[in-house]
Amino acid sequence: MTDQNAAPVSGSILVVGGGISGLTTALEAAEAGYEVFLVEKNPYLGGRVSQLNQYFPKLCPPTCGLEINFRRIKDNPRLKVFTMAEVEKVDGRPGSYTVQVKVKPRYVNENCTCCGKCAEACQSEIPSDYDFGMKKVKAAYLPFTMAFPARYVIDPSIVKTEDGQRVKAACPYDAVDLEMAPKTLALNVGAVVWATGWTPYDAKKMDNLGFGKHKNIVTNMMMERLAAPNGPTGGKITRPSDGKAPASVAFVQCAGSRDENYLPYCSYICCMASLKQVTYLRAQYPDAKIYIFYIDLRAPGYRYERFYETIKKDPNVVFVKGKVAAVAEDPITANITVTAENAVTGAKVQQAVEMVVLATGMQPTAAVQKLPGAVRTTPDGFILNDFAAGGMFAAGCANKPADVVSSNQNATGMALKAIQTLVRR
Ligand SMILES: Cc1cc2nc3c(=O)[nH]c(=O)nc-3n(C[C@H](O)[C@H](O)[C@H](O)COP(=O)(O)OP(=O)(O)OC[C@H]3O[C@@H](n4cnc5c(N)ncnc54)[C@H](O)[C@@H]3O)c2cc1C
Repeated sequence: MTDQNAAPVSGSILVVGGGISGLTTALEAAEAGYEVFLVEKNPYLGGRVSQLNQYFPKLCPPTCGLEINFRRIKDNPRLKVFTMAEVEKVDGRPGSYTVQVKVKPRYVNENCTCCGKCAEACQSEIPSDYDFGMKKVKAAYLPFTMAFPARYVIDPSIVKTEDGQRVKAACPYDAVDLEMAPKTLALNVGAVVWATGWTPYDAKKMDNLGFGKHKNIVTNMMMERLAAPNGPTGGKITRPSDGKAPASVAFVQCAGSRDENYLPYCSYICCMASLKQVTYLRAQYPDAKIYIFYIDLRAPGYRYERFYETIKKDPNVVFVKGKVAAVAEDPITANITVTAENAVTGAKVQQAVEMVVLATGMQPTAAVQKLPGAVRTTPDGFILNDFAAGGMFAAGCANKPADVVSSNQNATGMALKAIQTLVRR
């Protein structure tokens, strides 16, 4: 290798998506000395991980891992972050792309101290997407405690209203700017890493599983929010119909995954997510009966297998090998009866429970929102890495369903691939 080839050359990297994968790629590349632009469509960084209550295998709160990354961002002048931003257009070739980015107005500037006076003054409320509609928030809101950037957001619905003026007047720091307009940025970069992640599969698509019809059937991501101290119930897991503490809960595994009619692939983390959620329930309800209906239980690797072994020792957790065929609601108690065929005994099983959690799978974001770049995907929407062509890469769950550890490993590799594109230009 000649000195010329070995030396870093000028050039920048664009990372699209500020979840754990995008943060990792962006930071690894920036810390290797490259200029990086990180574009995130939400008003905050952290992606889906920020919505979790705890994450396996250690069961730490997500802020644990995210905060270290936010500190690294603050310390690194080479990394420029744009929130509420989306890529509109990408033209060019490996080593030289021109990118158009649209940044939506937040209506709150950097003077914000998160004092919350705007939210106190605001009278309008909007459903919280962050909490899957399980609660409402003020139209002047901080996305969640510990959000980064730590800055409020004003919902566009109140900007031209009296409420907007009230919110502006309440701010002691002149941080509310109702005149803020959308901006378009033009960036020149040598490589693009798509870290656009995943979205929960729409559980309403499975007619037989009753989501959206019966209140006490929730998804696994809703369960994360129900268990989270900053969630809609302040961390108390209660059933949605009446706020009752559930004495029995059924988990329905592969709700959509490994089914040719919905998601033909294994979403990799749902078994572990349900086993983790058993620990949430057990911490609050020592005597609750828990049923796990599964096709195959997958706990890949030594640590996850040990986690599974620990849960198996709980005498009040019953594992039933059988795909759930139907659910029915009792009109008086709002309890749910789950029907499955036990694959071991061949017997039809019917189990009444007070609450059901659907272990819904991960669908790549690129399957539901077309990306502007010339990327190739699998038929399911996972972005394919074409290392021979180079220039554009996919990291984390944009590329395949994965846990945080694997996403981070993959994202670190993609930082290297992006850097190689610049060096080999
Ligand atoms: C119920 C459940 C529980 C889980 N629990 C655990 C756990 O305990 N431990 C564990 O290791 N893993 C867990 N996971 C998996 C974990 O959530 C993923 O590994 C992780 O979210 C992958 O991060 P990511 O950055 O690839 O994707 P994401 O978290 O989806 O982040 C992608 C980011 O990209 C942004 N984005 C998307 N499209 C665009 C666009 N066009 N422009 C700009 N930005 C965009 C999104 O807003 C988001 O911020 C769980 C998953 C589920 C379903």
